[in-house]
This record gives sequence, structure tokens and C-alpha cells, in this order.
Amino acid sequence: IKQLPRPTEPRIIVVANQKGGVGKTTTTVNLATALALGGLNVLVVDNDPQGNASTALGIEHSPGTKGTYEVLMDGVGIIEHAQPSPHSPNLHVLPAAIDLSSAELELVNERGREHRMRDAINQYIEESGVDYVFFDCPPSLGLLTLNALVASTEILVPIQTEYYALEGLTQLLRTIDRVKGNLNDDLVLSTILLTMYDGRTNLSREVADEVRKHFSAQTLPVEIPRSVKIAEAPSFGETVMTYQARSVGAVAYQEAAEEIARRGAQEES
Ligand code: ADP
Ligand code: MG
Repeated sequence: IKQLPRPTEPRIIVVANQKGGVGKTTTTVNLATALALGGLNVLVVDNDPQGNASTALGIEHSPGTKGTYEVLMDGVGIIEHAQPSPHSPNLHVLPAAIDLSSAELELVNERGREHRMRDAINQYIEESGVDYVFFDCPPSLGLLTLNALVASTEILVPIQTEYYALEGLTQLLRTIDRVKGNLNDDLVLSTILLTMYDGRTNLSREVADEVRKHFSAQTLPVEIPRSVKIAEAPSFGETVMTYQARSVGAVAYQEAAEEIARRGAQEES
């Protein structure tokens, strides 16, 4: 396994797209695992009450499991509830149980509600020496996603190349602008990853071309192909990186992770 370069500063990346089923969770768990297997210290914050990222990373998240809810609502430190993933000793996961779904409403009346996660992450960075933090977000732009946007320095947007995806992106860009202006000046849309790509269909190629035209710097050169192995890995508590490391899907995610690591290491040189 190839050692990946350490970023010049810890990178806090929110994987966001308000549309469901575009590959947010799949992208989060596979990039996180690839970077961890490359020797970097990685934390995944499962910020979706469905807990799909926890599942794929081999972390139990039955109701009552402590994790993201306690950090957001009770001010508990991330380090208290982050668990090591069986996939790599450098990979930790703050799990989400279904209980997290009530946080979306409970946060509405809380003071400082948008900054809860940012404070927790800053503390965790001090305590842990983490290189990469990834937030896996639910398919909405509510207070859970907002907390992740405020806590992060970068946004990674997975775009499903089977859909006319640019329309949804307009709404996301508007939200990013609002967060930037009010709550987090540092936030940049750093990375776009094309997912579920099928080069045999015109639609996949057209969407990919269109995205590359508008976001040439941000869009990673590699596309993630549609692959059964990627889709079946979570049912074994696995990512494709750990389940079928030589499959086309795993190779594509590995390439994406290497490119992300390379860009992060060069940023301030
Ligand atoms: P989101 O988190 O945006 O809702 P997921 O990552 O859960 O999206 O992906 C939605 C579904 O598509 C899941 O069943 C997942 O296993 C499957 N999937 C994701 N990426 C791929 C891919 N490249 N090839 C095949 N299936 C995929
Ligand atoms: Mg998801």
C-alpha cells in the first residue's frame, strides 16, 4: 500500500449534496478508508441519522449508541465517542444512531446552534492529531448539514452522472454562499467527484462534460464507475476498498483519494 502525503493542515471536508442516492456515503467511506490505509489519521463523522457510513465502516449504531447526537446536543467531546474502525487503526468514526434525527428539530431552539460541531472539531484536532475529517451528511440542507458546513474548510460534492445534476447544484451553491457570508468565511467548494459513471451512455458522458466545463479545477480527473461490488460492500460491513481492493470501483476510489491527498499536500507550498 502506498503511503499518502500528509496535508499541510488538517482538512475538514463536508461531503454534501441535498439529493439522496448520489453517492455521498459511498464516497465518504471509501475515500476515508483509502486515506487511512495510506497512513493518514482520519475521522468520519456520521452526520446522517440513517447511519449508513457507520455500517460501511463496521461500526455498530443501534438506537442508543452514543455519537454525533451527544456531541451536538450535550457538548460531549468527539474523542469520548469516536470508535476505531476495523478497516484501519488510523480510521475513527463518530457513529450516528437513528436518535440523531431528533437533533434537527431540537437544535432549532438552541443558542449557538450552528457552531456546535465546529467547536467540537477544533477540540478534537488538538487532542488527536487528525489529518482528515469527513462529514457524511443527510440528503437535506437542514441544521445537521449546516453544522457540518460551518465546521468544515472544504466541500466535496459527489455528482451522479445519471441525472441532470447541475440544477441541484445551483441550490447547493446558493447555500454555500450564504454560509460563507454569515457563518464560515473559509468554506470552499474544493472537490467534485463524478459517481456512478457509465461511459457507454450518452447521459453519463454529457453530464460529466457539462460538470467539467463549469468546474474544471474542482472536478477530479477520475470518475467512479457504476459497480456492483461498490454497492454490495456495505451489506458485509465493508467498503469496496476493504472488500474487493482490486475491483474497478476500488481502484477508482484509490485514485480519487491519491489526487485529493496530492492537492492537499501542495496547497500551501
Ligand atoms: P447517498 O449517501 O448520497 O444517499 P449512497 O452512497 O448511499 O448515496 O449511494 C446510493 C446507493 O447507490 C447505495 O445503494 C450505494 O450502494 C449505491 N452506489 C453508490 N455508488 C455506486 C457506484 N459507483 N456503483 C454502484 N452503486 C453505487
Ligand atoms: Mg448517505
